[in-house]
Amino acid sequence: MLVVMERAATPEQVHAVVRRIEEMGYEARPLIGRGRTAVAVLGNQGSVDGARFTDLPGVRDLVPITEPYRQASREWQPEDTIVRLTGGVTVGGEDVVVMAGPCSVESERQIVETARRVRDAGATVLRGGAFKPRTSPYSFQGLGEQGLAWLAQARAETGLPIVTEVMDTESVELVARYADVLQVGARNMQNFSLLRRVGAAGKPVLLKRGYAATVIELLLAAEYILAEGNDQVILCERGVRSFDGTTRFVLDLSAIPLVHRLSHLPIMADPSHGTGVRGKVLPMARAAVAAGADGLLIEVHPAPERALSDGAQTISTEEFEELMRQCRAIADAIGRRVAEPAEVGG
Ligand code: PEP
Ligand code: MN
Repeated sequence: MLVVMERAATPEQVHAVVRRIEEMGYEARPLIGRGRTAVAVLGNQGSVDGARFTDLPGVRDLVPITEPYRQASREWQPEDTIVRLTGGVTVGGEDVVVMAGPCSVESERQIVETARRVRDAGATVLRGGAFKPRTSPYSFQGLGEQGLAWLAQARAETGLPIVTEVMDTESVELVARYADVLQVGARNMQNFSLLRRVGAAGKPVLLKRGYAATVIELLLAAEYILAEGNDQVILCERGVRSFDGTTRFVLDLSAIPLVHRLSHLPIMADPSHGTGVRGKVLPMARAAVAAGADGLLIEVHPAPERALSDGAQTISTEEFEELMRQCRAIADAIGRRVAEPAEVGG
């Protein structure tokens, strides 16, 4: 439940509400919104007795939170969350943020060159996996900490913040030392201990939808991170399994407007994993921007045919330039703008 205060409520009145909630054995969290202050009641299993607040001055309304994904819901926070990344990039506002780079970090040269090329084409965040969740244990597993170090070097040379996957609780601390955004992959969307740990790590999180997960399960997974006090969560639609094997997954673009209605969290789209087919990335990127995606996650490699992972869905830097041009036009048509990289690095 939210105890919504009058606009003119004093700090003492808010404090009295906090005290009352704590007396009832719950946790209180004041939420300072743009138009209102509310105090959230946390830690309750069943419903909260609203009558306990009627005598307190400054209280305007009691709003029950009916959705199980409480803090992720629009009831909890009507206005959109803006996730702020290092270097001033914001996700969830008017701008469409493009995060691009290889599936995996393969060498210093590969990641630095890709970073320069995607930045010159207009990407504002660099992606690249150092720890790779591969279906087969015999496939390339990523370079681990060396990959993180090369990502950090690419950041230093281009000014692009980096997003990279963290696969298990033991490596959260290590990955958080290098990454600007911690990615939780599709295969780990319901790894609840990992979600808790990244929630506590104090860094923005990119949470990808599991390929057999419903939209509500995605929001409940985000709730684990929010419940740790980390509200910097970006969701990502990356395709779900279907009966049709023509594409690798089915990119569920209806999830984007749906999440925007149910939640205040930003949602991006990943047409690379979502299709698994290089030639389908551009049209589905356009479609995702048209559907209202707050960002795109795109796999780009200077020589996709030589990529050590996901080459079939990876586009070249030239194809990426064209993707950016077309997505700018779509963004413009719906009154948005593709974020531009800051003038940093060399
Ligand atoms: C990735 O983005 O590198 C990745 C492994 O994606 P997903 O978790 O969506 O499969
Ligand atoms: Mn990949």
